[in-house]
Amino acid sequence: MGRFDSFAAPYRHGRSGVSAEEQRQSALRALPPVDRLAVELARATLAERRAELLAGAADEVDLVQRALARLRPSLRPVINATGVIIHTNLGRAPLAAAARAAVARAAGYCNLELELERGERGSRHAHVERLLRELTGAEAAIAVNNGAAAVLLAAAALAGAGRELIVSRGQLIEIGGGFRIPEVVAQAGARLVEVGTTNRTRLDDYRRAMAPDTGALLRVHPSNFRALGFVQDVEIEALCSLGPPVIDDIGSGVLDEIGAATPAVDGVGPADVDRDGHLTAEPSARRSVAAGAALVCFSGDKLLGGPQAGLLVGRADAIAAARSHPLARALRIDKLSLAALEATLALHRDPELARREIPTLAMLLVDGERLRGRAELLASGTGGAIVEGESRVGGGALPLLELPGPVVALPGGEHGAAELARELRVGDPPVLTRVHRDTVLLDPRTLSDDQLGEVVRAVAEARRRCGRG
Ligand SMILES: *Cc1c(COP(=O)(O)O)cnc(C)c1O
Repeated sequence: MGRFDSFAAPYRHGRSGVSAEEQRQSALRALPPVDRLAVELARATLAERRAELLAGAADEVDLVQRALARLRPSLRPVINATGVIIHTNLGRAPLAAAARAAVARAAGYCNLELELERGERGSRHAHVERLLRELTGAEAAIAVNNGAAAVLLAAAALAGAGRELIVSRGQLIEIGGGFRIPEVVAQAGARLVEVGTTNRTRLDDYRRAMAPDTGALLRVHPSNFRALGFVQDVEIEALCSLGPPVIDDIGSGVLDEIGAATPAVDGVGPADVDRDGHLTAEPSARRSVAAGAALVCFSGDKLLGGPQAGLLVGRADAIAAARSHPLARALRIDKLSLAALEATLALHRDPELARREIPTLAMLLVDGERLRGRAELLASGTGGAIVEGESRVGGGALPLLELPGPVVALPGGEHGAAELARELRVGDPPVLTRVHRDTVLLDPRTLSDDQLGEVVRAVAEARRRCGRG
């Protein structure tokens, strides 16, 4: 039944003078007869299959499954039981309730580029600039389509038209999906000047490379890996003391130092935490702004916990250059993301509220007792065993950080764990899990309390389908 729900919601306009009961009766009468519905669906499915067979298809397909799939939208909600908090394949950061509501409100007409008071054209950036300034201490800010767009625009604005952009060899990195710093710099129209070595770059390396046509110095946070051992790089404060504008790509969007705010994470891996268990390995926007960086770039949907977006915060002159660059239009953020971003940033004004309401932060900081309670419900509902596991942050943030906690292990049974995981994935709703040593692991960290019942039902369903082979 549930799988048809997404198509069953018509526009609901209140009709005055008609009671709710009458409305319900007339809606029931308007349902199409079962044979008409079935015939339409069957015709479409068979026509498609006939065309495939005529074109030489020889594969076996389950036409009933395919017919049902026709009724479902392609982009659907899934249940994330993987324990990977910022899961790129699952849409990265899930939005806070306030951000979801903001998206729904902005979906119709809205004052995206209109100053209501004066009735004049306004800037879409105005909706988030004040919040970004407040949260990072920057003079000015803009939002664009994603983090990659922020870096591209920053490089183009400060070092485009063939000016030099100086980067440490230790930071010529690939973020994923073909986003490689040297290629982005080239696309921005800047001339890459490499300094230092893979493992060590010093302030003097930058200083010696500086020339009259140096547009900017670029620093890139190695988000998705860590270099350990004989390594050295230059702190943002020192880099900013050199003179040329500095672009700081900090990646995952920590606004303020989160270290002191996260004592709940314990027993974690090296390099991402200090001795007291505080997260230290993600640089904060506020620190880079205070150091004097011209443009600080970060993502909206990593540790910020908001929608896909790229943020640029920094000095007024540099932001103005980015804003007026021709690429700004091509990279601009849309109203739905902007609405979610404004709501997410508003939550960040109160750190306590942010940690409670923003799912990414709540999952990162959830206490062990709560996880255990969820694990117990899952285990008793599925007959699985509670074992110790580790969740991950994902999304190329805090790559070494392992978040210990209880997970529920389901034996693969005679068909194997991979098959059970597959059945869970193709069920309705799809449930995504981890497979480890012929068990399917359900990680309660990325589940909400009200999803536990659905997961238990999905496991029973998946086992039944496995049994049918
Ligand atoms: C993630 C990341 C990007 C790209 O941001 P998207 O939002 O994924 O486009 C760029 N730079 C760094 C350092 C990152 O971590």
